[in-house]
Amino acid sequence: MHALRAQFPVLAQSIHGQPLAYLDNGATTQTPLAVQQALQQFEQRDRANIHRGVHTLSQRATDAFEAARGVLKRFVGAGREHELVFTSGTTEALNIVAQGLWAAGPGKAWLRAGDRIIVSGLEHHANLIPWQQAARMTGAELVILQPDAQGRVHVQDLQALLTPATRVFAITAGANATGERPPYEEMLQLARAAGALTVLDAAQAVGHGMPALATLDCDYMAFSGHKMYGPMGTGALVGRRQALQLLYPLRLGGDMVEWVSYEDAGFAQLPARLEGGTPNVGGAVGLAAAAQFIDSVGRSAIDQHLHALRARAVAGLSAIDGITVLAPHATQAALVSFVARDVHPHDIGTLLDERGIAVRTGHHCAEPLHNHFGLGPTTRASFALYNTAEEVDRLIAAVAHAVKVFQ
Ligand code: PMP
Repeated sequence: MHALRAQFPVLAQSIHGQPLAYLDNGATTQTPLAVQQALQQFEQRDRANIHRGVHTLSQRATDAFEAARGVLKRFVGAGREHELVFTSGTTEALNIVAQGLWAAGPGKAWLRAGDRIIVSGLEHHANLIPWQQAARMTGAELVILQPDAQGRVHVQDLQALLTPATRVFAITAGANATGERPPYEEMLQLARAAGALTVLDAAQAVGHGMPALATLDCDYMAFSGHKMYGPMGTGALVGRRQALQLLYPLRLGGDMVEWVSYEDAGFAQLPARLEGGTPNVGGAVGLAAAAQFIDSVGRSAIDQHLHALRARAVAGLSAIDGITVLAPHATQAALVSFVARDVHPHDIGTLLDERGIAVRTGHHCAEPLHNHFGLGPTTRASFALYNTAEEVDRLIAAVAHAVKVFQ
Protein backbone atom coordinates (compact mmCIF):
# COMPACT_ATOMS: atom_id res chain seq x y z
CA MET A 1 0.00 0.00 0.00
CA HIS A 2 2.84 2.38 0.81
CA ALA A 3 3.91 2.59 -2.84
CA LEU A 4 0.43 3.90 -3.70
CA ARG A 5 1.09 7.12 -1.77
CA ALA A 6 2.87 8.45 -4.86
CA GLN A 7 -0.52 8.32 -6.62
CA PHE A 8 -1.85 10.94 -4.19
CA PRO A 9 0.21 14.12 -4.69
CA VAL A 10 -1.70 16.03 -2.00
CA LEU A 11 -0.12 13.84 0.68
CA ALA A 12 3.41 15.01 -0.11
CA GLN A 13 3.21 18.28 1.81
CA SER A 14 4.08 19.67 5.20
CA ILE A 15 1.59 21.26 7.58
CA HIS A 16 3.14 23.54 10.22
CA GLY A 17 6.53 22.10 9.30
CA GLN A 18 5.46 18.47 9.80
CA PRO A 19 4.62 15.88 7.14
CA LEU A 20 0.87 15.75 6.57
CA ALA A 21 -0.82 12.73 8.18
CA TYR A 22 -4.28 12.87 6.65
CA LEU A 23 -6.59 10.94 8.98
CA ASP A 24 -9.95 12.50 8.03
CA ASN A 25 -10.92 10.00 5.37
CA GLY A 26 -14.32 9.23 6.87
CA ALA A 27 -15.22 12.79 5.92
CA THR A 28 -13.45 12.91 2.54
CA THR A 29 -10.69 10.83 0.97
CA GLN A 30 -8.07 12.20 -1.39
CA THR A 31 -8.08 11.45 -5.13
CA PRO A 32 -5.38 9.47 -6.96
CA LEU A 33 -3.78 10.64 -10.22
CA ALA A 34 -5.99 8.23 -12.18
CA VAL A 35 -9.10 10.13 -11.03
CA GLN A 36 -7.50 13.53 -11.58
CA GLN A 37 -6.47 12.50 -15.10
CA ALA A 38 -9.95 11.19 -15.94
CA LEU A 39 -11.43 14.53 -14.84
CA GLN A 40 -8.85 16.47 -16.81
CA GLN A 41 -9.33 14.41 -19.94
CA PHE A 42 -13.08 14.98 -19.82
CA GLU A 43 -12.61 18.73 -19.38
CA GLN A 44 -9.96 19.01 -22.09
CA ARG A 45 -11.52 16.74 -24.72
CA ASP A 46 -15.13 15.71 -24.17
CA ARG A 47 -16.93 18.41 -22.17
CA ALA A 48 -20.45 19.04 -23.45
CA ASN A 49 -24.02 18.57 -22.31
CA ILE A 50 -25.38 15.04 -22.58
CA HIS A 51 -28.42 13.35 -24.14
CA ARG A 52 -29.28 16.49 -26.09
CA GLY A 53 -26.82 17.14 -28.86
CA VAL A 54 -26.15 15.40 -32.13
CA HIS A 55 -22.67 16.89 -32.25
CA THR A 56 -19.59 14.80 -31.55
CA LEU A 57 -18.66 16.24 -28.17
CA SER A 58 -22.18 15.76 -26.84
CA GLN A 59 -22.14 12.17 -28.06
CA ARG A 60 -18.74 11.55 -26.50
CA ALA A 61 -19.87 13.06 -23.19
CA THR A 62 -23.05 10.95 -23.27
CA ASP A 63 -21.06 7.81 -24.01
CA ALA A 64 -18.62 8.57 -21.17
CA PHE A 65 -21.49 9.23 -18.74
CA GLU A 66 -23.31 6.01 -19.62
CA ALA A 67 -20.07 4.02 -19.55
CA ALA A 68 -19.45 5.38 -16.04
CA ARG A 69 -22.92 4.18 -15.02
CA GLY A 70 -22.04 0.68 -16.21
CA VAL A 71 -18.69 0.67 -14.37
CA LEU A 72 -20.34 1.76 -11.12
CA LYS A 73 -23.16 -0.77 -11.39
CA ARG A 74 -20.57 -3.53 -11.72
CA PHE A 75 -18.55 -2.01 -8.87
CA VAL A 76 -21.44 -2.23 -6.39
CA GLY A 77 -22.46 -5.66 -7.62
CA ALA A 78 -25.81 -4.59 -9.04
CA GLY A 79 -27.98 -7.27 -10.62
CA ARG A 80 -30.17 -7.11 -13.73
CA GLU A 81 -33.04 -5.80 -11.61
CA HIS A 82 -31.05 -2.73 -10.53
CA GLU A 83 -30.64 0.76 -11.95
CA LEU A 84 -28.17 3.47 -10.95
CA VAL A 85 -29.12 7.13 -10.66
CA PHE A 86 -26.31 9.68 -10.45
CA THR A 87 -26.62 12.13 -7.56
CA SER A 88 -24.47 14.74 -5.86
CA GLY A 89 -23.82 12.30 -3.01
CA THR A 90 -25.41 10.23 -0.28
CA THR A 91 -27.46 13.10 1.12
CA GLU A 92 -29.15 13.79 -2.19
CA ALA A 93 -29.69 10.08 -2.86
CA LEU A 94 -31.43 9.58 0.51
CA ASN A 95 -33.54 12.69 -0.01
CA ILE A 96 -34.60 11.40 -3.44
CA VAL A 97 -35.81 8.23 -1.72
CA ALA A 98 -37.50 9.73 1.33
CA GLN A 99 -39.18 12.62 -0.51
CA GLY A 100 -40.00 10.35 -3.41
CA LEU A 101 -42.05 8.18 -1.08
CA TRP A 102 -44.32 11.01 0.04
CA ALA A 103 -44.23 13.76 -2.58
CA ALA A 104 -46.87 12.20 -4.85
CA GLY A 105 -49.38 13.14 -2.15
CA PRO A 106 -52.16 11.33 -0.26
CA GLY A 107 -53.63 8.32 -2.02
CA LYS A 108 -50.74 8.10 -4.47
CA ALA A 109 -47.57 8.05 -2.36
CA TRP A 110 -46.06 4.88 -0.83
CA LEU A 111 -46.19 6.40 2.65
CA ARG A 112 -49.56 7.00 4.32
CA ALA A 113 -50.86 8.10 7.71
CA GLY A 114 -50.44 5.36 10.30
CA ASP A 115 -47.50 3.69 8.47
CA ARG A 116 -44.34 2.90 10.37
CA ILE A 117 -40.85 4.03 9.34
CA ILE A 118 -38.02 2.33 11.24
CA VAL A 119 -34.60 4.00 11.23
CA SER A 120 -31.58 2.77 13.16
CA GLY A 121 -30.24 4.96 15.94
CA LEU A 122 -26.74 4.89 14.42
CA GLU A 123 -27.54 7.09 11.48
CA HIS A 124 -25.86 10.13 10.03
CA HIS A 125 -28.31 13.04 9.91
CA ALA A 126 -28.68 12.40 6.16
CA ASN A 127 -30.44 9.12 6.91
CA LEU A 128 -32.58 10.51 9.72
CA ILE A 129 -33.84 14.00 8.94
CA PRO A 130 -35.41 13.06 5.56
CA TRP A 131 -37.37 10.34 7.44
CA GLN A 132 -38.44 12.78 10.16
CA GLN A 133 -39.82 14.96 7.38
CA ALA A 134 -41.47 12.02 5.61
CA ALA A 135 -43.25 11.09 8.84
CA ARG A 136 -44.34 14.68 9.40
CA MET A 137 -45.65 15.11 5.86
CA THR A 138 -47.66 11.87 5.83
CA GLY A 139 -48.70 11.20 9.40
CA ALA A 140 -46.52 8.10 9.48
CA GLU A 141 -44.82 7.11 12.72
CA LEU A 142 -41.01 7.28 12.97
CA VAL A 143 -39.58 4.56 15.22
CA ILE A 144 -35.91 4.35 16.15
CA LEU A 145 -34.11 1.02 16.42
CA GLN A 146 -32.24 1.92 19.59
CA PRO A 147 -28.56 1.00 19.99
CA ASP A 148 -27.39 -0.60 23.25
CA ALA A 149 -24.92 1.07 25.60
CA GLN A 150 -21.97 -0.06 23.44
CA GLY A 151 -23.57 1.31 20.28
CA ARG A 152 -24.68 -2.02 18.80
CA VAL A 153 -28.07 -2.62 17.20
CA HIS A 154 -29.66 -6.05 17.48
CA VAL A 155 -31.66 -8.19 15.07
CA GLN A 156 -34.14 -9.27 17.76
CA ASP A 157 -34.86 -5.61 18.61
CA LEU A 158 -35.70 -4.97 14.97
CA GLN A 159 -37.89 -8.04 14.93
CA ALA A 160 -39.87 -6.65 17.87
CA LEU A 161 -40.44 -3.35 16.02
CA LEU A 162 -41.54 -4.79 12.67
CA THR A 163 -45.31 -4.67 12.26
CA PRO A 164 -47.57 -5.08 9.21
CA ALA A 165 -47.68 -1.26 9.12
CA THR A 166 -43.90 -1.00 8.59
CA ARG A 167 -43.36 0.46 5.13
CA VAL A 168 -39.71 1.60 5.34
CA PHE A 169 -36.59 0.41 7.13
CA ALA A 170 -33.40 2.49 6.83
CA ILE A 171 -29.96 1.62 8.18
CA THR A 172 -26.29 2.38 7.67
CA ALA A 173 -23.73 -0.15 6.45
CA GLY A 174 -21.18 1.54 8.72
CA ALA A 175 -21.76 4.21 11.35
CA ASN A 176 -19.61 7.26 10.65
CA ALA A 177 -19.54 8.33 14.31
CA THR A 178 -18.33 5.04 15.84
CA GLY A 179 -17.35 2.63 13.07
CA GLU A 180 -20.09 0.23 14.16
CA ARG A 181 -20.98 -2.27 11.46
CA PRO A 182 -24.57 -3.40 12.08
CA PRO A 183 -25.79 -6.84 10.96
CA TYR A 184 -27.52 -5.12 8.08
CA GLU A 185 -27.73 -8.15 5.78
CA GLU A 186 -30.04 -9.97 8.18
CA MET A 187 -31.93 -6.82 9.10
CA LEU A 188 -32.64 -5.89 5.47
CA GLN A 189 -33.86 -9.41 4.86
CA LEU A 190 -36.24 -9.35 7.83
CA ALA A 191 -37.60 -5.91 7.02
CA ARG A 192 -38.16 -6.76 3.38
CA ALA A 193 -39.87 -10.02 4.32
CA ALA A 194 -42.18 -7.93 6.53
CA GLY A 195 -43.19 -5.87 3.50
CA ALA A 196 -41.05 -2.77 4.05
CA LEU A 197 -38.93 -0.97 1.49
CA THR A 198 -35.30 -1.21 2.64
CA VAL A 199 -32.73 1.59 2.49
CA LEU A 200 -28.98 1.20 3.00
CA ASP A 201 -26.62 4.13 3.57
CA ALA A 202 -23.36 2.80 2.15
CA ALA A 203 -21.38 6.07 2.42
CA GLN A 204 -18.83 4.58 4.83
CA ALA A 205 -18.75 1.12 3.31
CA VAL A 206 -18.82 1.22 -0.47
CA GLY A 207 -15.07 1.78 -0.90
CA HIS A 208 -14.21 -1.34 1.05
CA GLY A 209 -15.86 -4.45 2.52
CA MET A 210 -19.42 -4.68 1.30
CA PRO A 211 -21.26 -7.62 -0.18
CA ALA A 212 -22.51 -7.32 -3.76
CA LEU A 213 -25.77 -5.39 -3.88
CA ALA A 214 -27.45 -8.24 -5.74
CA THR A 215 -26.98 -10.48 -2.67
CA LEU A 216 -28.74 -8.01 -0.33
CA ASP A 217 -32.45 -7.52 0.33
CA CYS A 218 -31.93 -3.86 -0.38
CA ASP A 219 -34.33 -1.69 -2.35
CA TYR A 220 -32.24 1.50 -2.27
CA MET A 221 -28.54 2.01 -1.62
CA ALA A 222 -26.81 5.40 -1.41
CA PHE A 223 -23.14 6.37 -1.59
CA SER A 224 -20.82 9.35 -2.14
CA GLY A 225 -17.86 9.62 -4.50
CA HIS A 226 -15.70 11.78 -2.27
CA LYS A 227 -15.45 9.06 0.37
CA MET A 228 -14.14 6.49 -2.14
CA TYR A 229 -11.23 8.40 -3.73
CA GLY A 230 -13.59 10.09 -6.22
CA PRO A 231 -14.60 13.68 -6.95
CA MET A 232 -16.64 15.81 -4.56
CA GLY A 233 -20.28 16.43 -5.43
CA THR A 234 -20.71 12.96 -6.93
CA GLY A 235 -22.48 9.83 -5.80
CA ALA A 236 -25.34 7.55 -6.64
CA LEU A 237 -28.60 5.96 -5.68
CA VAL A 238 -28.74 2.34 -6.80
CA GLY A 239 -32.02 0.56 -6.44
CA ARG A 240 -34.32 -2.11 -7.70
CA ARG A 241 -36.15 -0.76 -10.74
CA GLN A 242 -39.53 -1.53 -9.19
CA ALA A 243 -38.58 0.39 -6.04
CA LEU A 244 -37.12 3.35 -7.98
CA GLN A 245 -40.31 3.46 -10.03
CA LEU A 246 -42.26 4.16 -6.82
CA LEU A 247 -40.39 7.43 -6.26
CA TYR A 248 -41.96 10.71 -7.25
CA PRO A 249 -39.06 12.60 -8.87
CA LEU A 250 -37.39 15.15 -6.64
CA ARG A 251 -35.85 17.16 -9.46
CA LEU A 252 -38.43 18.27 -11.98
CA GLY A 253 -37.28 19.90 -15.20
CA GLY A 254 -35.18 19.14 -18.24
CA ASP A 255 -34.02 15.69 -19.27
CA MET A 256 -36.49 13.80 -17.06
CA VAL A 257 -39.61 14.06 -19.21
CA GLU A 258 -41.07 12.33 -22.22
CA TRP A 259 -43.51 15.07 -23.18
CA VAL A 260 -44.55 18.41 -21.72
CA SER A 261 -47.56 20.65 -22.23
CA TYR A 262 -48.27 23.93 -20.42
CA GLU A 263 -50.50 22.00 -18.04
CA ASP A 264 -48.78 18.68 -17.50
CA ALA A 265 -45.77 16.45 -18.18
CA GLY A 266 -45.05 12.78 -18.66
CA PHE A 267 -41.99 11.57 -16.84
CA ALA A 268 -39.25 9.64 -18.64
CA GLN A 269 -38.17 6.06 -17.98
CA LEU A 270 -35.51 5.29 -15.40
CA PRO A 271 -32.82 6.39 -14.82
CA ALA A 272 -33.53 9.73 -16.57
CA ARG A 273 -36.79 10.05 -14.59
CA LEU A 274 -34.77 10.70 -11.39
CA GLU A 275 -31.91 12.67 -13.01
CA GLY A 276 -33.56 15.97 -13.90
CA GLY A 277 -31.23 18.79 -14.94
CA THR A 278 -27.64 18.70 -16.12
CA PRO A 279 -25.66 16.21 -14.06
CA ASN A 280 -22.01 16.40 -13.03
CA VAL A 281 -20.85 14.53 -16.12
CA GLY A 282 -17.12 14.92 -15.54
CA GLY A 283 -17.68 13.93 -11.91
CA ALA A 284 -19.42 10.72 -12.97
CA VAL A 285 -16.46 9.90 -15.21
CA GLY A 286 -14.05 10.61 -12.33
CA LEU A 287 -16.15 8.49 -9.97
CA ALA A 288 -15.96 5.53 -12.35
CA ALA A 289 -12.18 6.00 -12.48
CA ALA A 290 -12.13 5.88 -8.66
CA ALA A 291 -14.05 2.58 -8.69
CA GLN A 292 -11.57 1.16 -11.18
CA PHE A 293 -8.68 2.39 -9.05
CA ILE A 294 -10.12 0.64 -5.96
CA ASP A 295 -10.60 -2.59 -7.88
CA SER A 296 -7.05 -2.39 -9.26
CA VAL A 297 -5.75 -2.28 -5.68
CA GLY A 298 -8.24 -4.92 -4.48
CA ARG A 299 -10.95 -4.42 -1.90
CA SER A 300 -9.88 -7.22 0.40
CA ALA A 301 -6.28 -5.93 0.47
CA ILE A 302 -7.60 -2.45 1.31
CA ASP A 303 -9.81 -3.88 4.05
CA GLN A 304 -6.99 -5.81 5.67
CA HIS A 305 -4.85 -2.70 5.72
CA LEU A 306 -7.61 -0.49 7.19
CA HIS A 307 -8.52 -3.00 9.89
CA ALA A 308 -4.87 -3.33 10.89
CA LEU A 309 -4.51 0.46 11.17
CA ARG A 310 -7.69 0.65 13.22
CA ALA A 311 -6.55 -2.14 15.56
CA ARG A 312 -3.21 -0.37 16.08
CA ALA A 313 -4.96 2.91 16.84
CA VAL A 314 -7.46 1.32 19.25
CA ALA A 315 -4.67 -0.50 21.13
CA GLY A 316 -2.47 2.60 21.37
CA LEU A 317 -5.22 5.07 22.28
CA SER A 318 -6.86 2.76 24.85
CA ALA A 319 -3.53 2.48 26.65
CA ILE A 320 -3.48 6.25 27.31
CA ASP A 321 -4.82 7.15 30.74
CA GLY A 322 -7.97 9.25 30.36
CA ILE A 323 -8.85 8.13 26.81
CA THR A 324 -12.02 6.16 26.11
CA VAL A 325 -12.41 4.60 22.68
CA LEU A 326 -15.98 4.25 21.35
CA ALA A 327 -17.07 0.86 20.02
CA PRO A 328 -13.68 -0.86 20.52
CA HIS A 329 -15.40 -4.11 19.46
CA ALA A 330 -15.99 -2.81 15.91
CA THR A 331 -12.96 -4.54 14.40
CA GLN A 332 -14.15 -4.12 10.83
CA ALA A 333 -14.17 -0.34 11.09
CA ALA A 334 -11.88 1.98 9.17
CA LEU A 335 -12.11 4.68 11.82
CA VAL A 336 -11.73 5.22 15.54
CA SER A 337 -13.58 7.75 17.70
CA PHE A 338 -12.56 8.61 21.23
CA VAL A 339 -13.04 11.03 24.09
CA ALA A 340 -10.46 12.33 26.54
CA ARG A 341 -11.38 12.98 30.16
CA ASP A 342 -11.52 16.75 30.79
CA VAL A 343 -10.12 17.69 27.39
CA HIS A 344 -12.28 19.21 24.66
CA PRO A 345 -11.91 17.49 21.27
CA HIS A 346 -11.35 20.84 19.57
CA ASP A 347 -8.24 21.33 21.71
CA ILE A 348 -7.02 17.88 20.71
CA GLY A 349 -7.78 18.57 17.05
CA THR A 350 -5.92 21.86 17.13
CA LEU A 351 -2.88 20.36 18.83
CA LEU A 352 -2.86 17.49 16.32
CA ASP A 353 -3.04 19.96 13.43
CA GLU A 354 0.03 21.72 14.79
CA ARG A 355 1.77 18.36 14.36
CA GLY A 356 0.50 17.94 10.80
CA ILE A 357 -2.18 15.41 11.76
CA ALA A 358 -5.67 15.98 10.32
CA VAL A 359 -8.57 14.48 12.31
CA ARG A 360 -12.20 15.42 12.77
CA THR A 361 -13.79 16.67 15.95
CA GLY A 362 -17.44 17.26 16.79
CA HIS A 363 -20.69 15.33 16.54
CA HIS A 364 -19.96 13.96 13.05
CA CYS A 365 -23.53 14.72 11.97
CA ALA A 366 -24.84 12.09 14.41
CA GLU A 367 -25.98 14.21 17.32
CA PRO A 368 -28.74 11.88 18.59
CA LEU A 369 -26.26 8.98 18.85
CA HIS A 370 -23.88 11.12 20.92
CA ASN A 371 -26.77 12.07 23.18
CA HIS A 372 -27.67 8.38 23.45
CA PHE A 373 -24.15 7.69 24.73
CA GLY A 374 -24.40 10.70 27.05
CA LEU A 375 -21.38 12.12 25.29
CA GLY A 376 -20.49 15.49 23.92
CA PRO A 377 -18.33 15.80 20.84
CA THR A 378 -15.60 13.26 20.05
CA THR A 379 -12.37 13.10 18.10
CA ARG A 380 -12.33 10.79 15.09
CA ALA A 381 -9.37 9.46 13.13
CA SER A 382 -10.35 7.68 9.93
CA PHE A 383 -8.12 5.74 7.58
CA ALA A 384 -7.62 5.23 3.87
CA LEU A 385 -5.42 2.90 1.86
CA TYR A 386 -2.53 5.40 1.79
CA ASN A 387 -2.23 5.73 5.58
CA THR A 388 0.66 4.08 7.39
CA ALA A 389 1.36 2.50 10.76
CA GLU A 390 3.83 5.31 11.35
CA GLU A 391 1.04 7.89 10.96
CA VAL A 392 -1.06 5.98 13.48
CA ASP A 393 1.88 6.01 15.90
CA ARG A 394 2.21 9.77 15.43
CA LEU A 395 -1.50 10.10 16.22
CA ILE A 396 -1.16 8.07 19.41
CA ALA A 397 1.91 10.04 20.55
CA ALA A 398 0.23 13.36 19.82
CA VAL A 399 -2.96 12.40 21.69
CA ALA A 400 -0.88 11.25 24.69
CA HIS A 401 0.87 14.63 24.59
CA ALA A 402 -2.44 16.53 24.32
CA VAL A 403 -3.84 14.71 27.33
CA LYS A 404 -0.74 15.69 29.38
CA VAL A 405 -0.85 19.32 28.24
CA PHE A 406 -4.54 19.94 28.83
CA GLN A 407 -5.43 17.76 31.81
N1 PMP B 1 -24.03 8.91 5.63
C1 PMP B 1 -22.87 8.63 6.24
C2 PMP B 1 -22.75 7.35 7.02
C3 PMP B 1 -21.80 9.51 6.13
O1 PMP B 1 -20.64 9.23 6.73
C4 PMP B 1 -21.98 10.71 5.37
C5 PMP B 1 -20.85 11.72 5.26
N2 PMP B 1 -20.24 12.04 6.47
C6 PMP B 1 -23.19 10.93 4.75
C7 PMP B 1 -24.21 10.02 4.92
C8 PMP B 1 -23.44 12.16 3.93
O2 PMP B 1 -22.65 12.11 2.77
P1 PMP B 1 -22.54 13.36 1.79
O3 PMP B 1 -22.20 14.53 2.65
O4 PMP B 1 -21.45 12.98 0.85
O5 PMP B 1 -23.86 13.50 1.12
